[in-house]
Amino acid sequence: MNHCAVFLADRTGREGDHQVNHEAAHQASQHRDTLRGKFARRVVPTLIALTFAGSAFAQATAGATSAPAPQAPPSGARTAAAVGQSEAGTTEFTLSNGMRVIVKEDHRAPTVVHQIWYRTGAVDELSGTTGVAHMLEHMMFKGTPKVPVGEFSRQIALLGGRENAMTNRDFTLYSQQIGKQYLPKMMELEADRMANVIFKKDEFEREMKVVMEERRLRTDDSPRGKVYEQLLATVYTAMPYRHPVIGWMDDLVNMRVEDVQAWYREWYVPNNALLVVAGDVKADEVRKLAERYYGKLKPRALPSRKTQLEAPQQGIKRVWVKAPAQNPYIVLAYKVPRLRDVEKDVDPYALEVLSAVLDGYDNARLNRELVRQQRLADDVNVGYDSINRNESIFVLDGIPADGHTTEEIEKALREEVQRIARDGVSEEELKRVKAQVIAGQIYKRDSVFGQGMEIGVAEIAGIPWQQIDRMLDKIKAVTPAQVQAVAAKYFHDDNLTVATLLPQPIDPNKPKASPAAEGLRH
Ligand SMILES: [Zn+2]
Repeated sequence: MNHCAVFLADRTGREGDHQVNHEAAHQASQHRDTLRGKFARRVVPTLIALTFAGSAFAQATAGATSAPAPQAPPSGARTAAAVGQSEAGTTEFTLSNGMRVIVKEDHRAPTVVHQIWYRTGAVDELSGTTGVAHMLEHMMFKGTPKVPVGEFSRQIALLGGRENAMTNRDFTLYSQQIGKQYLPKMMELEADRMANVIFKKDEFEREMKVVMEERRLRTDDSPRGKVYEQLLATVYTAMPYRHPVIGWMDDLVNMRVEDVQAWYREWYVPNNALLVVAGDVKADEVRKLAERYYGKLKPRALPSRKTQLEAPQQGIKRVWVKAPAQNPYIVLAYKVPRLRDVEKDVDPYALEVLSAVLDGYDNARLNRELVRQQRLADDVNVGYDSINRNESIFVLDGIPADGHTTEEIEKALREEVQRIARDGVSEEELKRVKAQVIAGQIYKRDSVFGQGMEIGVAEIAGIPWQQIDRMLDKIKAVTPAQVQAVAAKYFHDDNLTVATLLPQPIDPNKPKASPAAEGLRH
């Protein structure tokens, strides 16, 4: 099974459960090689990075994306001018059934990315049926009266396309990248399964075994996956972000095909979907096609969405997790705001920059101090994702070096933040970080997938695509004083949850997950 965490994803290398992502097996290794590089991982603040692929089993602080591997850009394309601004060549319209469509024209290569974003994910789930959003994602490949089981993916492969499906806390995404002449085919297939998926009990039961295996691989047999699951379940007491995207095992055991079908009926409607098409297309053509294929689908009223906000935390929270593992590991998660108002907000941008100052490049503070100079840690990471439907966390983690303890790592991580709160950051550091933000943006927009992700992620979180470039301006405008101010404001014990892995002996006789399971498609 290939799970690729994307956007802020794997900057932390954490195996949390913000997202479950699938794509065809043959793409995964490519992903790992290209997108999971330092560039994608560490360099770019999340806000801007929104969409980089992390990889298999690496779930991030906030979720992720998996990109079809970015194509090599045409020569000369890696310039800001060629990449353009997000607003350039972008068109939006709404079909009569309420389905929104955003088209981003990019004529550099004869390819197109077609993405259906459902504004529903684990955050909309209720206790007792956690994991249902992700289970539905699996069932979406089980066929319709017109398209037999497995045929959807087979068609795409046959046409030389790549596909990708992903469930995270905030949304469920189905994405295909393919030659532009096949866009009508993609719409036909995707519109068909928005309304006509067949739910058979035996298929459901078979698929549930796959999902349970996926859960074992990613969480139950993964020490860091376990720690991260417990971390989130401790950080949040009321908000549904406390549930793992893949679902609690007991909920999976008790899930019925009717639960999945009900989820499908409630949320998979045109008025809860966003279609993003990016690539070598004309907006007018897309409009005609979208009307033809999606326009005929009937809208339905959506369930009411109740906000479930956290009560203020009072005092530090700690959780310890025992699991067979080689090394200890510690994660600190601070509650921090997300981006709500692109123009008025200041702190989310400053937190993005703070994250990059700490861990945004190879020689950034944490790596330099804790790993290279003090040799306290083998690895340290920072993650913050400002673009969410609900409140966010700022995460710092570390693996102690031989002879050192998680207590020392915790102390050192806190001290690095306190140092910034006390002494601030230099103009030089900010310059460095901002240059990388811009480079990251250019890199992202090299791929049509990246462009689609950028738009979709922002829109799902309630940020209009027209404001995407403003966010970049805002990041560039962050001052040293603002970074210092957020370091002083949010990093105190009443916002803090700490999860610590207590390694247990590894049973040499325990069978490893079969390689076959890793190659499963959905
Ligand atoms: Zn899955």
